[in-house]
Amino acid sequence: MAEQRRERERAQERERERERQGVQDVQGAQEAQNAQGGEGDAPDAPNAEEVAGAWEALVATARRMVSDGLVVGTSGNVSVRVGDIVLVTPSGVPYDRLTPDDVTGVDLTGRQVLGALVPTSELPMHLALHRTTDARAVVHTHAVHATAVSTLVTELPPVHYMTGVLGGPVRVAPYATYGTEELARNMVRALEGRTGCLLQNHGTITYGATLDQAYDRTAQLEWMCRLWLTASSVPGLTPTLLTPEQLAQAEERLRKYGQPGR
Ligand SMILES: [Zn+2]
Repeated sequence: MAEQRRERERAQERERERERQGVQDVQGAQEAQNAQGGEGDAPDAPNAEEVAGAWEALVATARRMVSDGLVVGTSGNVSVRVGDIVLVTPSGVPYDRLTPDDVTGVDLTGRQVLGALVPTSELPMHLALHRTTDARAVVHTHAVHATAVSTLVTELPPVHYMTGVLGGPVRVAPYATYGTEELARNMVRALEGRTGCLLQNHGTITYGATLDQAYDRTAQLEWMCRLWLTASSVPGLTPTLLTPEQLAQAEERLRKYGQPGR
């Protein structure tokens, strides 16, 4: 009996050893990948599984932008943060062609630490948000109604209380050439106290705690822009707008909206 117990204990010990080895293998693979990109010991290096999962979700979000009509072709871009690495859509690759091997990641300074594809040209906007806000995910699109509104006003008139999900009336960041630090600076100013804004003659940008939240904010923003354009295009009539008090009351309720604990 004692012999059987010892044998069982030895088997359990071997099993634990294999598990430890497995964990080290994952970490080793990640470190090797980091080293490839010139990265040493990242202070908050995510494991390979986390990176693979986040990449899959990022690609799904990018494809959804196209299928929902928020962008055409390879326009728009998405990022998601995993530890101190920001995964981003690569520049100019159709989203339906992205595979698990195309993982593209940069550190918070923009230095590429994962993959060989060139990161999105809008890296300055994504990095500005990951550096200066609690954003974990950022979605940028050229949604047609939102972009149309960005050419007409400097702030989306508050026609609906759903502006509350973006922190208040949505501002339009002044125009600057795409991909520049100037555009990123204009965007940061327009986003003060907000989780989404319009970019003049360009499109939308929103962020959130998850890809789903950032995406939903973009969808709500595009819907509100469509609503305002529809209401304001009726000849001879002008849409009523919500007062700051009405907006504040709705915002308060929106904070409690949804299923508790989810
Ligand atoms: Zn763009």
